[in-house]
Amino acid sequence: MDQEVVSGIGNVYRAELLFRARLDPALPGSGLGRERAIALWEDAAEAMAEGVRDGRIVTTDPSHWPDGPAELPAPQDAHYVYRRQGQPCRECGGSVVVAAEAGRKLYWCPSCQR
Ligand SMILES: [Zn+2]
Repeated sequence: MDQEVVSGIGNVYRAELLFRARLDPALPGSGLGRERAIALWEDAAEAMAEGVRDGRIVTTDPSHWPDGPAELPAPQDAHYVYRRQGQPCRECGGSVVVAAEAGRKLYWCPSCQR
């Protein structure tokens, strides 16, 4: 949530990119390390470019799309954790949770993101 480190990424990408990297959202940026920080940055750049191309934010891998990769998924299949609190995690089947932090909602899977 520290906008002095990275800003403008938005709450959807924040939640989804941290899930894709399997990072605990409570991990401070200083604990990330160079390799994981670079990987996170590259994933963010790729995901955001896809969002521009597609005209919407889809962060799930096509292998998780019910109708296959030919068409973008329905909104309920477009994310791993964002606004999926109480629903099963697409990876582990555990429950996605939500908490409020700095006035914004934070979504994550406690089993996958340690
Ligand atoms: Zn999970």
